[in-house]
Amino acid sequence: MQRAHDSSLSARFQALDDASESYPLDSVVYRSRSGGLLEVVHDQAALNAARTPAEWKALFDSRTTRSPYPYSSGVWSKLELVQPHLAPSDVVSLFEGNAHLLPAERFGETIGLPRLAVKQCGTTHTGSFKDLGMTVLVSTVHAMVKKGANIRALACASTGDTSAALAAYGAAAGIPVVVLLPRGKISTAQLLQPIAHGALVAALDTDFDGCMRAVAELTKDPSIYLANSMNSLRIEGQKTLSYELAQDFAWSVPDWVLVPGGNLGNVSAIAKGFIELLELGLIERLPRIACCQAERANPLYRAFVRASEQLHPLSEADYAPIEAQKTLASAIQIGAPVSLPKAIAALARTDGLVEQATEAELASAAARADRTGLYTCPHTAVALACAEKLAARGVISKEQSVVVVSTAHGLKFSEFKQRYHEGTLEFASDFANAPVSLGNDPTRVSEELHRALDRFRA
Ligand SMILES: *Cc1c(COP(=O)(O)O)cnc(C)c1O
Repeated sequence: MQRAHDSSLSARFQALDDASESYPLDSVVYRSRSGGLLEVVHDQAALNAARTPAEWKALFDSRTTRSPYPYSSGVWSKLELVQPHLAPSDVVSLFEGNAHLLPAERFGETIGLPRLAVKQCGTTHTGSFKDLGMTVLVSTVHAMVKKGANIRALACASTGDTSAALAAYGAAAGIPVVVLLPRGKISTAQLLQPIAHGALVAALDTDFDGCMRAVAELTKDPSIYLANSMNSLRIEGQKTLSYELAQDFAWSVPDWVLVPGGNLGNVSAIAKGFIELLELGLIERLPRIACCQAERANPLYRAFVRASEQLHPLSEADYAPIEAQKTLASAIQIGAPVSLPKAIAALARTDGLVEQATEAELASAAARADRTGLYTCPHTAVALACAEKLAARGVISKEQSVVVVSTAHGLKFSEFKQRYHEGTLEFASDFANAPVSLGNDPTRVSEELHRALDRFRA
């Protein structure tokens, strides 16, 4: 099972708009010469030659959570398809991935989607799916540092989860981390994570897009390595979510994958993962992908509507950056998404679409989902609310299999749940569940609870 990395395989950064421009994965480069995005491109012929589809499936299925480090990780069980230049000893893994695909029939039935399942990515080490990409980026930098590269620190701008993941992986690798956060716009739990991991935490009086501009300036110095998803090493880890989903469906795919979108790296990553599996012959078709945005931070949704109204395919010409408004879904409060061109291509390739949810819609979806045993972060709730709307409009039918990607753990967003159940949000909390105070007399407590149970609705 444990085999040395295969030297026939290789991957490079390649300019999205010019296939002749490429760079090794250990070069410090984030944009193409024309200022466009880069993507990681693998030597497809070498991958196809290395193993048959049946052999790839057998290899990946053999690497379970009991495999030796790092193949036990959901990401590194696919090392050959992710970062073929890394030796297993370079990898910095916190045992990310392998998230459960939870059948969510009880909630699904209430929204007309009995075949709904939730990919529980928030159960990972730092509580969000950002771990998938961060392990790839930090492992690559770890290998560069071991070879003597002059890297003083890793740095990122963040809406909370990226900085938590970077701080954890940087600490595990022993590489200093700088995080730039919008002051007052992330949850307490998210702020405490980089603090606890010893990162240099900078709170800026701006929004995420402002932090992004500051980190771009900071990382002009090549010794400060940029860890945002503009760095497409992150996408290589995030795409393994699709590999896991294909495995969850016994090497086939669901009809739909819904994911909340902010900076739009993940909608692109999910499409990339499925497209690569198709090219390797491991799956036979692509799922449709729905990018789910908060109404208060919806630049891609606006572009999608504009294109639909004008009856032409979505293109960058339909898009204009916006100033994102405050939303409960704080991790996707982004008005100028960096990975927009990749997301547009991803939606075109997967016959995808964009939907949005209001604050009241997402809060209600979260509350109702929680009552079926889920524990939903506000971003996952955006995707659940969008699933509900797409089902109501008949875009998704009840026969179809639907996966909602749960991107973070609900426990990271306690303030959201607290305000909902206290009823202090700006709209009615129809499913608020306030605790009842019953003093301390056992007889009275018992009598009151019997009375309360008579009124109780599960
Ligand atoms: C980062 C993040 C997203 C969105 O991913 P993008 O690639 O920025 O679109 C969604 N939910 C949570 C919890 C996140 O941390």
